[in-house]
Amino acid sequence: MVDIYNFIFDKVSDSVVVLDKNGNVLCSNNAFSEMNDELKVWGINLAKVFSEEDIFSKNKIELSNGKNKTVEISINSFEYKDNIVLILRNNSSLKDIDRTHIDFISTVSHELRTPLTSIKGFVDTLLSAGDKLDKDSQIRFLKIIKSQVERLTRLVENLLAVSKFESGRGENVYKEINVRKTLQSVIDSLMPKYEKYKFHNDVEQYFSVRADSDKFMQIMTNLIDNAAKYSKAGSEVWIRAYFNAENPNMIDIEVKDEGVGIPKEFYDKIFTRFSRIDNPLTRSVQGTGLGLYITKSLVESMNGKISVHGNGSKAGSSFVVSLPAFSAEISAGKFYQE
Ligand code: ADP
Repeated sequence: MVDIYNFIFDKVSDSVVVLDKNGNVLCSNNAFSEMNDELKVWGINLAKVFSEEDIFSKNKIELSNGKNKTVEISINSFEYKDNIVLILRNNSSLKDIDRTHIDFISTVSHELRTPLTSIKGFVDTLLSAGDKLDKDSQIRFLKIIKSQVERLTRLVENLLAVSKFESGRGENVYKEINVRKTLQSVIDSLMPKYEKYKFHNDVEQYFSVRADSDKFMQIMTNLIDNAAKYSKAGSEVWIRAYFNAENPNMIDIEVKDEGVGIPKEFYDKIFTRFSRIDNPLTRSVQGTGLGLYITKSLVESMNGKISVHGNGSKAGSSFVVSLPAFSAEISAGKFYQE
């Protein structure tokens, strides 16, 4: 029977510690040691809880490393014989999640308000003074309204995509995807938008990845769309595939452009929500700053990786998506001997 109590003691997820009446630790469970180790990384000493006076009247305390980190620990305490039993829980990770959501909502509200304010302004002008404006101005105003409505639509679509994968919906349906063929249909769907650009689908016919078809298309659409969007009209975009140098069970698909490029210090940041690099082209090009965040999440949901690089000595950038090869052994065996 004692065994089962010990077993349960170590399995419960809350930290439990038993102290004698002088505050010395008599025993503690695994969760307590883990929490202690976790807080030590921040320079926070969990033992401070034991020195709290009147611990029975407290149901939470804040511990700080005296610099940049404070955590909130909830306490449940009771006496057992001459000892004190404390049950502790770190509330801070929950608080951090709440904070991220609050920040997210405030950024989304701001992003929605900007185009709405502009639409309202132009509609008001057209209603109050539209008949006094010449035809060209009326058309110009209507075009601005249309582009702001498109911006809102794009933002809402991106937000729906974020909410779908963050809530764990939209499970992957894996199948064999022929990279060259699928990329060609992505390029064809983007062509009307980028008539002046040249897209080179240099992927060899034999590359297939194991991926969800819709997600693969969305990843490639985002990357190829960005490659053209952040390059001058008339630019070229190259797409290639090769076996990953370290792991031939993975296939690397590279989208390379000769556009404005991305400074190295932004390499991590561009994959986070709502981040846009401030340069004249980015300012003139419409975007939500959600595309690469979505792309990265989709790639990772399929056990892949994404990275960004420069375009050799030329201007521009290159994005590489690594995804598991379909029947890796067969294709690697067949094409690796060459
Ligand atoms: P959006 O394009 O909607 O702004 P993304 O998340 O797709 O959002 O991209 C984030 C930022 O990264 C862009 O605003 C742009 O500054 C930069 N960026 C993305 N792709 C490229 C690229 N191919 N060349 C240069 N800059 C890029």
